Amino acid sequence: MSTAKLSIDLDALASNWRNLDALSAGETAAVVKANGYGLDVARVGQALARAGARNFFVAIAEEGVALRRALGPDLGISVFSGHMAGDTKLLQDFDLTPMLNSVDQMLRHFESLPGHKFGVQLDSGMNRLGMEPAEWAALRDISLGQNPVLIMSHLACADEPDHAMNALQLKTFREMTEGVDIPRSLAATGGILLGPEYHFDLCRPGIGLYGGLPFRDAIPVISLDLPVIQIRDVLPGESVGYGNAWIARRPSRIATVAAGYADGLIRAMGAGISAYANDMACPVVGRVSMDLITLDVTDLPADPESLSLINAHQTVDKIADAAGTIGYEILTSLGHRYARSYSG
Ligand SMILES: *Cc1c(COP(=O)(O)O)cnc(C)c1O
Repeated sequence: MSTAKLSIDLDALASNWRNLDALSAGETAAVVKANGYGLDVARVGQALARAGARNFFVAIAEEGVALRRALGPDLGISVFSGHMAGDTKLLQDFDLTPMLNSVDQMLRHFESLPGHKFGVQLDSGMNRLGMEPAEWAALRDISLGQNPVLIMSHLACADEPDHAMNALQLKTFREMTEGVDIPRSLAATGGILLGPEYHFDLCRPGIGLYGGLPFRDAIPVISLDLPVIQIRDVLPGESVGYGNAWIARRPSRIATVAAGYADGLIRAMGAGISAYANDMACPVVGRVSMDLITLDVTDLPADPESLSLINAHQTVDKIADAAGTIGYEILTSLGHRYARSYSG
């Protein structure tokens, strides 16, 4: 079969949730936006629910609908983008909790869905989403009068533990929520690792569940095997791939595998990474193309049938590093062409 195989270990996902839960002072929710970081929101959501997660976060209402269908009625699903125009029916029909992030959203929510659960999203300095201190000061009493279920904010630099922004946002969040008798949430994966003062009542890990940094102790969740389509001998001085970007210096054996940048293996990762035959590294040579990657398998004792690109040697974060990006982007770009198999 010429389809690359993406394996997703739901037991590892569940273990990562349990391990982050053990580090968290309060409740541990799960962030499953962007289709469960690209790994299938239904399967990921169900596995995390089995592990013990009771509250889930998605980016937009439509993602919440897909998750509600997978999880059934009893678990909490919150929407970071809040209550957008046109969301009202979805929020109501699928029992989704919007994290209201502006005056406009508050008015919309209280008018169109009076009594429907909501949370409040505060901006403690990131300047991306949520009410700013002055806005919140004006709305705080009205909002609290309607009994929000959660007050949350998000850290901009939590993956850099020594960054001064962390303490600054913590202070701002504390000031904005002082005396409030409602569950509070500030930490995602990075915030959990900053320590208990960042945890408040509920933590919202995403990337760490899926095996990514900054959760260094994460168990890898995905592995990726690329079938070899063809192997050829190349003489010294011959080139491989587009732009003649790689020239053989020795008699070489080159394997062409079935995946490329259309599968999220972005072109920029090219040089500097390898695919593996058991423990032996076979460097990528030449450019990554849309559907194919070429690798130097000269040093292998035998021709491989497939090569492993993501595994315990070479995590999503290593691939990301080589491409000048982050694990989040690799995961959420993996694409639809893989044969996906779920275990656990
Ligand atoms: C994506 C996101 C999270 C999860 O962040 P990770 O770094 O993946 O753990 C939590 N909260 C908000 C508001 C987010 O946008």
